[in-house]
Amino acid sequence: MKTQNFYDLIVIGGGASGLAAAVTAHAMGVRNIAVLERLSRVGKKILATGNGRCNLSHAPVTSADYAGSYDTSHALQTFGDAERFFENLGLYCRTDEQGRIYPYSMTANAVLDALRLYAGEMTEICDQRAVMLYSKNQLWHVVTEKNLHLTAKKIIFSAGGAAAPQFGTDGSAWRMFADLEIPLVGSRVILCPIRSDPGMLQKLKGIRVKGSVTLLDRGKIMQSETGEIQFTEQAVSGICVFNLVSRIDRRKFADYQLQINLFPELDVSEILSRLYTCQAVRPEADCENMLSGLIRKAIARVLLQQNQIDPGMSCLALSDQQIRRIARSLQDFRFPVLGTVNSQAQASAGGVHGSALDENLQVKSHPGLYITGEAVDVYAPCGGYQLHWAWASGYTAAKDCMERQKIMRDTGEIYD
Ligand SMILES: Cc1cc2nc3c(=O)[nH]c(=O)nc-3n(C[C@H](O)[C@H](O)[C@H](O)COP(=O)(O)OP(=O)(O)OC[C@H]3O[C@@H](n4cnc5c(N)ncnc54)[C@H](O)[C@@H]3O)c2cc1C
Repeated sequence: MKTQNFYDLIVIGGGASGLAAAVTAHAMGVRNIAVLERLSRVGKKILATGNGRCNLSHAPVTSADYAGSYDTSHALQTFGDAERFFENLGLYCRTDEQGRIYPYSMTANAVLDALRLYAGEMTEICDQRAVMLYSKNQLWHVVTEKNLHLTAKKIIFSAGGAAAPQFGTDGSAWRMFADLEIPLVGSRVILCPIRSDPGMLQKLKGIRVKGSVTLLDRGKIMQSETGEIQFTEQAVSGICVFNLVSRIDRRKFADYQLQINLFPELDVSEILSRLYTCQAVRPEADCENMLSGLIRKAIARVLLQQNQIDPGMSCLALSDQQIRRIARSLQDFRFPVLGTVNSQAQASAGGVHGSALDENLQVKSHPGLYITGEAVDVYAPCGGYQLHWAWASGYTAAKDCMERQKIMRDTGEIYD
């Protein structure tokens, strides 16, 4: 493909926020748009989101759902709701009972198709990694690793965060901010499994349970989440676990523990009564089999061993004190925190410091340059919030960028 080298708008990064920006600029009548993408095609990460179903937003979503140094309120308000945005692209959505919004077809493909079909005339320049960005003579210049040199009136930088390098995002794109002296907050991955004791996990791997999980810092409760907890060979996983990672200070993993409550809906007296019932109706059973009326055997084995009780011992030999200990452990099943599985992270915190950007995501010190999505120091829990921010920031930046362009054209400040 022969690529021209001058554009009204260059979007660096063909991911969620970059494509939302391109679509928005297109809707405002701009036709000369290039999306510069490092990978062989745009939107690869979108296809992997929500296990291939793309949890594209959440209902409701407010600025209180986001952490980081940038105030998201204006962009969220400007954007409105994601369902309407996608409806305008011909894509209909559905919301599950937990407020997670998906495309109606439950396929991430449909989301990428909606974005690409709408802005069909945009030029996708793939396999080109931007490595340098500067402004000269009122134009922005982008240089790629393969020495392609492009210029534009406006740049929307949407090259993502520092998690999931397999989808083109390893934080290296942020190096372009150094020469522009744009302040950054150091990156750390969030939304990933938490590594724990391999000895315990070896016995539990493959098991999924419903319950609540609490992050303890030297015994102090930091945050609790409820949902499905999964045990893998090296980690405790599941959306509820992912949501705890942003609270962990990586310099002191040894201070943390995960406390799993296998019966969050019961109080301890109800659990005790169930244990006594199981003991009474299964007098022949060993302790492990007695507990199988309540929990998976593999969990029972680990839990009994943690309490120095032989799983093979007759359940009738259990003392009252031991039964009380088991009851407590069912709500206080402890796992040490050994680290995080960074390679499986879905997002990162950190990026461009909020103070560098105006409310429309334009860099205050560099008019005409906008930064969107995960490249901004904004982060949120699982549940569609990350993608909602990507669409909202891409939309807001493109809208502002094109409105300013129009005002300048109307007032004769620029000539096309
Ligand atoms: C497996 C997985 C599942 C997820 N599921 C969900 C979910 O269901 N719901 C949700 O809300 N969030 C989910 N997320 C998070 C969400 O996908 C991201 O937060 C969101 O995509 C960020 O959007 P973005 O536009 O900032 O960056 P991205 O979508 O990451 O796009 C950045 C793009 O820029 C390109 N790029 C990087 N550097 C350069 C460069 N130098 N030059 C040119 N191009 C470059 C990258 O290749 C990439 O295509 C998931 C993430 C992962 C990894």
